[in-house]
Amino acid sequence: AQGDLEIVLLDILKELHSKYKSLQEGVVANYIPELAKVNPDLFSICIVTVDGQVYEIGDYEQLFTIQSISKVFAYGLALEDHGQVEVLKRVGVEPTGEAFNAIILDEQSKRPYNPMVNAGAIATTSLIKGSGATERLNRMLDMFQRYIGRDVFVDISVFTSERSTGHRNRAMAHLMLNFGMIDRNIEEALDLYFQQCAVIVNCHDLAVMAATLANRGINPISKKQAVDKRYIKDILSVMYTCGMYNFAGEWAYKIGIPAKSGVCGGIIAVVPHKMGIGVFSPPLDARGNSVRGVKVCEELSQQLGLHLFECS
Ligand code: GLU
Repeated sequence: AQGDLEIVLLDILKELHSKYKSLQEGVVANYIPELAKVNPDLFSICIVTVDGQVYEIGDYEQLFTIQSISKVFAYGLALEDHGQVEVLKRVGVEPTGEAFNAIILDEQSKRPYNPMVNAGAIATTSLIKGSGATERLNRMLDMFQRYIGRDVFVDISVFTSERSTGHRNRAMAHLMLNFGMIDRNIEEALDLYFQQCAVIVNCHDLAVMAATLANRGINPISKKQAVDKRYIKDILSVMYTCGMYNFAGEWAYKIGIPAKSGVCGGIIAVVPHKMGIGVFSPPLDARGNSVRGVKVCEELSQQLGLHLFECS
């Protein structure tokens, strides 16, 4: 039966890849030159099952920076460092319905709405423990390493470019400092946030990371625990309600699995106890989600019956 599934999955991926590779919609992120120069034709899909089977097609070894997808994993580390109760005091779990970079905080609590939008992600990253900037960065990189299963690096040009142009993120950090939602040196918190966004991955890595979340926090290839399993439900819940920018509601309705996208054109999607999906295709729609990525996930969800509330 394993052999049948293998053939079916690979066939489906091949079919989706050839169906959508000619789709020419969307524009690549251009807020920094390093992202604007990416080839819009790059396209890959990868599935990793919880028992470690890998199915992949297209440019799955092509490297890119993880961008907003990092927010999911940084949230897990903050939860491990402080526990749910403490993290909830600083970052809410309510979808905003607004763009990812909206400068808004919850009227009453003054918290950022959730860890998947920039404000919430910066507050989350400011919670990462360590005795100084270097130790915090190393702890962050170690965490990514556990999910990915190899050494990880930060793209210095992307990091520097984000840091020198990220005034909107800096404004949010100041606002949160004003309300006591961040207490550390904000330039240091922003640096760590820009560094986490500039972590270098490929589409295969995305699927392994997603599969780790699907597999109770255990990387299905290396078999190592990447995150404490007690936080998986917290991570997947915010991905489900807030992971796809201001398309999160429609995504939950149509596709029905926790997911997160980034301006790099990557999407991770998690089918709990079954598989992780990674898609990479740089052109983005108006909300910042990969055009081909959304289409591929929509079809995969339909064809494989992945919607969490599907009655088979
Ligand atoms: N580094 C980007 C920012 O903070 C990430 C944006 C994204 O992927 O949504 O603006």
